[in-house]
Amino acid sequence: MDEQQFDLELTERVKAYAKEIGSALVGIADAGILNEALEPDFRPEDLLPGCRCVVVLSLHIPDGALEIMRRGKMNYSYNMFGYAYLNRELDYLIYRMTMFLENEGYAAMPIPARGTQYGARKPYFGPLSYRHCAVAAGLATFGLNGLALSPQFGSRQRFVGIPTTAPLKPAEKLMDQSLCDGCMECIRNCPAHALSLNPPHVCKLGGMTYRYARCNQPACTHVARGLSTEVWKGALFNPNVDVPVEENQSRAGHYDDLWNKRDARIRISEHAEATYGATLCGRCMAFCTAGHDAMNRRMRQDQTAYQNDEVLHKDGTIHVADRVAALRKRSAQSEQK
Ligand code: SF4
Ligand code: SF4
Repeated sequence: MDEQQFDLELTERVKAYAKEIGSALVGIADAGILNEALEPDFRPEDLLPGCRCVVVLSLHIPDGALEIMRRGKMNYSYNMFGYAYLNRELDYLIYRMTMFLENEGYAAMPIPARGTQYGARKPYFGPLSYRHCAVAAGLATFGLNGLALSPQFGSRQRFVGIPTTAPLKPAEKLMDQSLCDGCMECIRNCPAHALSLNPPHVCKLGGMTYRYARCNQPACTHVARGLSTEVWKGALFNPNVDVPVEENQSRAGHYDDLWNKRDARIRISEHAEATYGATLCGRCMAFCTAGHDAMNRRMRQDQTAYQNDEVLHKDGTIHVADRVAALRKRSAQSEQK
């Protein structure tokens, strides 16, 4: 990498500003490796001609919001602080960083944290994959669940990226997949059976090859939008209306499902917040061991709030998480010897 081609002083100021406005993590992704890895229409160069890099920012999802959902008590906290309200906070970061770069005289492209463009070719995807940006910025790696896992927060964060023409110095090294221990908790806990490693999705990015679960997007979306009673079986907040999955559904049929056939409680809570997000599933994030372990590393040693790790399993029973139970069994066996 030729240092001459980058503005190192501006790179440092961008990173300092990101921290100042509250970003939990900050990194710079080289636009070139994203242009190679992503498909046409969804690359930085499609969004911003002459884009040199993507400034990647993130916010941590509060552990409490996910822990209470794991126990089947409430999904409202996750839906607000992991999604609906967090989008606003992420939009704040995007807006501020875009203005910072434009005020420096460079082009920058603010893409809202949430949603896809109506009529986009890939209906379940945003204009730019923030997960790929985070990995290209050296901040994260892919877990088998397909989420971007960071050493600090595992799966428990949201990333955003701002494509820019500013000559910022990008990350030199990408992470390998060692943050994911292959426990398969994410795949086993998916109520839609949407995640499959048979065969895995293969992603080539910046000289690295990542393999993670393929996601059946229509199946995931059906469950995540609260159209199935399978989503959080046994939980108070589980939907009570099962809407059948329809192949090749028209857009009108899709809206009919969402607004006329769904559990009325979900529709009301969405209206109350004036935003979509009262139903999200999130089990592949909530049950990810990398996120749970990262939380335990950050917590004070004398804190016992989540020690029992009682979770709501896919069949609707509440018991100690399989992984914790297996560790306990192993330590009990070794004590007996
Ligand atoms: S959000 Fe839920 S349904 Fe979708 S892949 Fe994750 S666990 Fe499965
Ligand atoms: S739950 Fe997390 S750590 Fe375990 S396999 Fe899935 S992504 Fe990897």
